[in-house]
Amino acid sequence: MSDSHPRGQAALLGPAEVRSLAAEFDIRPTKQLGQNFVHDGNTVRKIVAVSGVTRDDVVLEVGPGLGSLTLALLDVVEKVVAVEIDPKLAARLPTTVAERAPELSGRLDVVLEDAMKVLPSQVPAEPTALVANLPYNVAVPVLLHLFAEFPSLRTALVMVQAEVADRLAARPGSKIYGVPSVKANFFGEVRRAGAVGRQVFWPEPKIESGLVRIDRFEVPPWPIDAEHRRRVFAVVDAAFAQRRKTLRAALAGWAGSPSEAERRLVAAGIDPTARGEVLDAAAFVRLASVQPPSVSG
Ligand code: SAM
Repeated sequence: MSDSHPRGQAALLGPAEVRSLAAEFDIRPTKQLGQNFVHDGNTVRKIVAVSGVTRDDVVLEVGPGLGSLTLALLDVVEKVVAVEIDPKLAARLPTTVAERAPELSGRLDVVLEDAMKVLPSQVPAEPTALVANLPYNVAVPVLLHLFAEFPSLRTALVMVQAEVADRLAARPGSKIYGVPSVKANFFGEVRRAGAVGRQVFWPEPKIESGLVRIDRFEVPPWPIDAEHRRRVFAVVDAAFAQRRKTLRAALAGWAGSPSEAERRLVAAGIDPTARGEVLDAAAFVRLASVQPPSVSG
């Protein structure tokens, strides 16, 4: 069956290729590293299409694994910087690309590093987009770390556990709205961008997957420097640590006392009897900006 995307130059990985690559290097997928490899060309082409990346983009791919998504990305973009924590997988990736897309090999850089720690100084080009099938157990911290540390990233399209995708894209007032929703929305607009079934992976995970897209605010509505981010994230963490309590009670520890929490909430224009789940990112930013009482004497 032909598909709607233009035929690329890379020979994508199917089930037989994924298994033989894994067997060749005795790669036993581990749960700890969230190793579920995609063996379906249509899925990786869909991820690339939904990400909207073009020839002008430098893509940061986290966890390239055996190279399923990497090959589809190389067909489309100028450069892929692939950050992989597993030394065997990182070492094999350039060979896989040389075998399956020799004319695209020059577009790939592999960095052997933990994506929770990687910094711009370790990456040979400024990435403009993050496109990744993220390791599920660290998906949210990786996403937040990369948006914080790589200001050049203007967009992200990531595959994560469906439930995490829903949480990231949740809006205030919803039961699943929480810390990941607010923190992701601190950087940009977040939305669900599709669903992916289990059968496209080897090994097949027990859970469904979902796509999330984040477009960084072109003009940030608030300062995004590390110090401001730390202050905003601290109050977000405090508000949701006891999400069933009123904000006045939940934020007592953060503010020093219930009455000081109330004072700051009122100063930020927030009802002290409300719960954290109704506040949008802008409200958390206002709350974090209220000055503590001045210490006199
Ligand atoms: N992109 C491949 C695909 O779609 O088939 C593999 C995706 S698999 C869900 C996650 C990948 O992330 C694995 O290759 C795993 O080794 C790697 N990984 C896990 N934790 C990581 C981390 N902290 N930093 C970088 N890579 C990591």
